Amino acid sequence: MPPAAHALLDMEALAHNLAILRVRAPHSKVMAVIKANAYGHGAVPVARALPGADAFAVARVDEGVTLRDAGIRQRIAVLQGFISREELALHSRYDLEPVVHSAMQVGLLEAAALDAPVTVWLKLDSGMHRLGFGSEEFEASHRRLSLCHSVRQPPFLMTHLANADELEGTDTERQLDLFDRQVAGLQRERSIANSAGLLAWQNALTEWVRPGIALYGVSPFPNRTAADDGLKPVMTLRTRLIAIKQLNAGDAVGYGGDWVCRHNTVMGVAAIGYGDGYPRHARSGTPVLVNGQKVPLIGRVSMDMITVDLTECGKAKIGDAVTLWGEGLPVEEIARHADTIPYVLLCNVTPRVKRVTKARG
Ligand SMILES: *Cc1c(COP(=O)(O)O)cnc(C)c1O
Repeated sequence: MPPAAHALLDMEALAHNLAILRVRAPHSKVMAVIKANAYGHGAVPVARALPGADAFAVARVDEGVTLRDAGIRQRIAVLQGFISREELALHSRYDLEPVVHSAMQVGLLEAAALDAPVTVWLKLDSGMHRLGFGSEEFEASHRRLSLCHSVRQPPFLMTHLANADELEGTDTERQLDLFDRQVAGLQRERSIANSAGLLAWQNALTEWVRPGIALYGVSPFPNRTAADDGLKPVMTLRTRLIAIKQLNAGDAVGYGGDWVCRHNTVMGVAAIGYGDGYPRHARSGTPVLVNGQKVPLIGRVSMDMITVDLTECGKAKIGDAVTLWGEGLPVEEIARHADTIPYVLLCNVTPRVKRVTKARG
């Protein structure tokens, strides 16, 4: 009998996805993005399962410290960098590589007396308008960092794409042009592409690429699934049926009685809910796999349970395996039914859900 709500992690799929991305960006080094607990998969196990990654990226310094404490030896970039002396010192002590995106950070570097200089990623704001320097500030910061004793020379250069998942439109070309113009003449390693940039924009393939979502076997594009690019899902979210009930036409199911049976219905209860990270906004009709067969969610998602219509699933019995997304049911499809994006679904899987590594096959 399968255990209660658990996330089965296919680390072979993870390695496979890295290999696929390398084929798509054959001349680039890969910085595997494992922020937010590796998009809910578990940062340390994912890092350990990617010995072939050239570097990792996390969002915050404490995420980098956790990886070092777990014995991860590859380079680690910290996408938000530091905003205090103490956080800068942590970068130096743990050999973490901050993204430098503000003049305040440049000032902290110039004023620092570090045990060891830090490798930095100088970030241009090429149009996303979140983190990064505008054009003139970028030049000035580059000059200052190039003279700074706290910086291991030379600085690396990066930017981030705001619309790489939109294949039409000119936003990405504009960002790429701006970055190119800005860094022309600087003989530096550069990094631009997230997953969508890597898969869709040849001109974004510089010395380093920074895939996140695609590594986990999920498409960054709104109207594609990962299989279109040969990627395999890493996480399969599963649980089991804990009750089966006969309901009559007219019976209302769950909180608020939102779902009313139109026919006599065989209803199943599966042990997973929003307390596990299953989206509360998943609508009736959202597909769920019971013994590999697609059945519709009915009624509201509760904290620990969901209800499904098993009428077409004659042989289902208590204890049978239920898949919420992953192998056989792309998380992209669930995201569409819940008016969200796959990134959110993966990140929101709560600690109650045990992460179980799939046996090698
Ligand atoms: C999260 C992030 C990435 C990875 O994005 P995906 O869409 O998951 O591939 C790359 N670069 C930066 C700066 C990020 O914040």
